[in-house]
Amino acid sequence: MSDTAAAQPAQATMPDRSVVPGVWARYTDLVIDHGEGSWLVTTDGERYLDYTSGIGVTGTGHAHPRVSAAVAEQAAKLLHGQQNIVYHEPGLRLHAELARRAPGKDWGAFLCNSGAEAVEAAVKLARVATGRPVVVAFRGGFHGRTAQAMALTSSRVTIRGDFEPLPGSVYHAPYPDPYRGNGDGAALRSAWEREMDALFAQLVDPRHVAALIIEPVIGEGGYIVPPDWLLPRLREIADAHGILLVVDEVQTGFGRTGRFWAVEHWGVMPDILVMAKGIASGLPLAGILAPRATLARWAPGAHGGTYGGNAIACAAALATLEVIDDEGLLANARARGEQLLDGLRRAASEHTGVGDVRGLGLMAALEFVSPDAADPRAPNPALAKRVLSEALTRKLILLSAGSFGQVVRFIPPLVTTAAEVDQAVAVVADSLAAADA
Ligand code: PLP
Repeated sequence: MSDTAAAQPAQATMPDRSVVPGVWARYTDLVIDHGEGSWLVTTDGERYLDYTSGIGVTGTGHAHPRVSAAVAEQAAKLLHGQQNIVYHEPGLRLHAELARRAPGKDWGAFLCNSGAEAVEAAVKLARVATGRPVVVAFRGGFHGRTAQAMALTSSRVTIRGDFEPLPGSVYHAPYPDPYRGNGDGAALRSAWEREMDALFAQLVDPRHVAALIIEPVIGEGGYIVPPDWLLPRLREIADAHGILLVVDEVQTGFGRTGRFWAVEHWGVMPDILVMAKGIASGLPLAGILAPRATLARWAPGAHGGTYGGNAIACAAALATLEVIDDEGLLANARARGEQLLDGLRRAASEHTGVGDVRGLGLMAALEFVSPDAADPRAPNPALAKRVLSEALTRKLILLSAGSFGQVVRFIPPLVTTAAEVDQAVAVVADSLAAADA
């Protein structure tokens, strides 16, 4: 043993939690020993039902045996084979497999490490492919925390407010919210069309727009399911002006909404699809999918990165895709999603503080309001927080969302069982009562 090693204190005691900086805004103080399926087990042996999936990542559940085995097997062979220098088997197989699952024929994948990085890649590709500078994003959308991604993000001011100036040539169009817009019908649509016309008449010439970037279902901004006309209409607008339609499926992809890609719900073909989170069950992996002809617009060296398409992450992703197929996880996401939404509607029916219950597949949400305020739909983040805390006391981990933190969202793993959904709904019913919703 070296002198330095001998001088180190024994690792028997856990370091104080203050070693982790406070910038990680925190939902729980739990210290986790291990996870299995939908459950997290603390170092004290307490079991928590994890309906966060690590923010939509562990679709196959925690430590799925097939994913863990694929990771271990690959780790014993090759940890890192840098993309500019060599090819490796899991990388080649994953590129081919993702191309097969892409929305269009003759598509390919570019791989990187995080959702924000993938968004940056999408914007860089859209700008090169169109030769245009401007990107239009949608209000309430979240696209990540790097500079370009922050500029596109408008889910909460905390994400971007302290970091001005942000990269320019980004404009925000409204996202038509059926709850706050009084339904998804003609009134919402015509108001939204007027705003789009005004954007193009007052602020940016559509001839200069490279991309429209949108989350098919708004995630961090409050789990807002769009009216059925929105994505088809964006496709029309993009086509009319030679703009690329970029869908950010970082949270919605890999079966989360009950379809492999959320855009399949509306039969819309994007030009670039951004993916991350559920792709590799927890290993850091992300990327974009686009027609090979579009990807070819990037000159060699125009984009890249040290770790993109890491060997272990690719092995985890291949195993994840097999599990999604072999265990019928898309069908399970649809069935459990309906069960969850029905249960939440029942649980919320007596509580006037719940303004809306909504969702698609296994993205579900309760929006909390102040029914006695002048605006009875005024956001009520304090109530959402109480409900989160009551649920945690009952060993169900949930997250908030929404621009004001007024939404409680449910992101179960795609492997969740009917019994677990019933258990979660029962906890929510008790938590709503305890929180005086
Ligand atoms: N895009 C969407 C829709 C997201 O939900 C997120 C993360 O929550 C991101 C992008 C950023 O991903 P990451 O945190 O991996 O950078």
